[in-house]
Amino acid sequence: MSEIQVKPTEKKKPIEYQCEVISNKHLTPTVFELKFRPHEAFDFKAGQFISVIVPGAGPGGRNLRRAYSIASEPGRDPIELCVKLVEGGPGTNYLHRLQPGQKFAGVAPYGDFLYVTPSKRYAAFISTGTGIAPFRSMMLSRDFREAPPKGVFSIFGVRDQSEILYEDEFRDYPGLRWTTCLSRPAPGWSGFTGRVTHSLEQAGEAFPWLETDFYLCGNGDMIKEIKALLLERRGVSKEAVHVEKYY
Ligand SMILES: Cc1cc2nc3c(=O)[nH]c(=O)nc-3n(C[C@H](O)[C@H](O)[C@H](O)COP(=O)(O)OP(=O)(O)OC[C@H]3O[C@@H](n4cnc5c(N)ncnc54)[C@H](O)[C@@H]3O)c2cc1C
Repeated sequence: MSEIQVKPTEKKKPIEYQCEVISNKHLTPTVFELKFRPHEAFDFKAGQFISVIVPGAGPGGRNLRRAYSIASEPGRDPIELCVKLVEGGPGTNYLHRLQPGQKFAGVAPYGDFLYVTPSKRYAAFISTGTGIAPFRSMMLSRDFREAPPKGVFSIFGVRDQSEILYEDEFRDYPGLRWTTCLSRPAPGWSGFTGRVTHSLEQAGEAFPWLETDFYLCGNGDMIKEIKALLLERRGVSKEAVHVEKYY
């Protein structure tokens, strides 16, 4: 795989890119991975997103915009998105139909959901579904690998075994404690059954609550519940909680 070299980043002004699709394939029955190459390399920080232009899908045939976190490592070509196919959703159905060689337009980079944890603290990545995307980019990023936190927790929630994303890639990741939470597992599941909120609730006094930066991404209800748990019941400060709400 070729690599586009990028300088470590100061914040870039978003600009419009023409993006050529390299591949488009399902990772799970409802989530697909879109790999693309922009017409010129764009410099983004792990955690940022691209705003995809969905042609003619808005009222009166106007274009729509939809945000997608970049799931791949900064500087790596091609760039990867991980998208949940939403029934009847204009953005996801547009991206799902794109074939290798076709082009789409997107404006990037956007977003302040960046990794900021110093090496003396822990990081907890808490996600539902495709909310795992920015955390994959962070854990793959050079900045993170060169200055890792004291330890990493990942709590990842989906409905059942068929929707698990990226777990195999991170199985042997140094210092990572990964919990997959299945809300409705098929028979045979021996891991955690329940929502990510339940999993975090069960972490007791031994969890380093006040030494951890929490990064929450995905479903808005999950984010609300976890924020309440952290701020009201565990005394975590607002500054230690970072949020990217998808819907
Ligand atoms: C900063 C940011 C980054 C995002 N990154 C991603 C990403 O990396 N991958 C991704 O799949 N989505 C991501 N989203 C959500 C994405 O922007 C769209 O909202 C989503 O793809 C639905 O678009 P649509 O036009 O197909 O459907 P719409 O008609 O816009 O949405 C229909 C409904 O689908 C539900 N929905 C939206 N997103 C999801 C989802 N991810 N999982 C389950 N249900 C959903 C909501 O209830 C929504 O009301 C992100 C959102 C934001 C704000």
